[in-house]
Amino acid sequence: MKLNQIGEFKLIEKLVSLLPIDDKDVVVGFGDDCACINVNGKLLLFTNDIQVENRHFIKELQKPENIGWKLISVNVSDVLACGGIPRWAQISLGLPKNLEYSFIEEVYIGIKKALDYYGFYITGGNVSSSNEIILDLFLVGETEKFLSRKDAQEGDYIYINGFTGLARAGLELLLMEKKEYEDFEKELIQAFTKPTVDLSLKSLLQKNAKACIDISDGLVADLGHISKQSDKKIVLFKEKLPVNTNLKKYCEKYSKDIYDYILYGGEDYIIAFSCDKELKHKNIYKIGKVEQGKGIYLKEDKKITKLKVKGFEHL
Ligand code: MG
Ligand code: MG
Repeated sequence: MKLNQIGEFKLIEKLVSLLPIDDKDVVVGFGDDCACINVNGKLLLFTNDIQVENRHFIKELQKPENIGWKLISVNVSDVLACGGIPRWAQISLGLPKNLEYSFIEEVYIGIKKALDYYGFYITGGNVSSSNEIILDLFLVGETEKFLSRKDAQEGDYIYINGFTGLARAGLELLLMEKKEYEDFEKELIQAFTKPTVDLSLKSLLQKNAKACIDISDGLVADLGHISKQSDKKIVLFKEKLPVNTNLKKYCEKYSKDIYDYILYGGEDYIIAFSCDKELKHKNIYKIGKVEQGKGIYLKEDKKITKLKVKGFEHL
């Protein structure tokens, strides 16, 4: 059987079943944003995420510096999603033999800027030749309390700390390869090419969050993980979903359905979490509620619609 007949999520399930874990120091193994390891009472978070040429980035269309920045951000996002901060990383490179040195040097300048911004170090790595550019990071973080996807309770509210849908619009704009972009289009492209994770959210999450995840595959797809792993239903309030003005302009200009972007656009690298308190913080949006049941629903006035939980599949 070929991998594309199995699909990404089924493949992961099959592979995970081949590697059972029998180690009491592994607090959480497969199935969350990070694994959590208890090292003499300290909780470490392990995560890895890859950037592959023509899958995650297009060399000809993106600044190499931003490709390096994004490699770091996507991993930091998973650590924050488990309530932690990043500490140490290792990097693996797959590089074509005929690649210009200046390209990978620029990527590293972006990596260095991101490491300085988030405050941690890369401590080692390795290189191999390959047909496409592959950048893979293994990141270790630390946390006082592990925030998982499975702890949403009936009655919790769902919060997010930013807009969704921008990165997908940014990618579409990038692929148009226009000679001139309007300013609002440049900002949307930046959301895709240079996502920035807000680590200042960590203390609020540690104090208040129950279930937590980062939005990488799309709001509904990622809330789908919380819903499934917590065995709860999530109801989103349509009028509470934050609408970004640049995204609004984009959807008007190109005749797109903005809620398709807000609900299903991926690569936002913001955090969604559940919490039983009323939170009044800047840039924190209460967008839904956790109830008894299954699946993700959208409530508009009195009408409730069941949403299809679909996200990006790599295979
Ligand atoms: Mg994640
Ligand atoms: Mg990830």
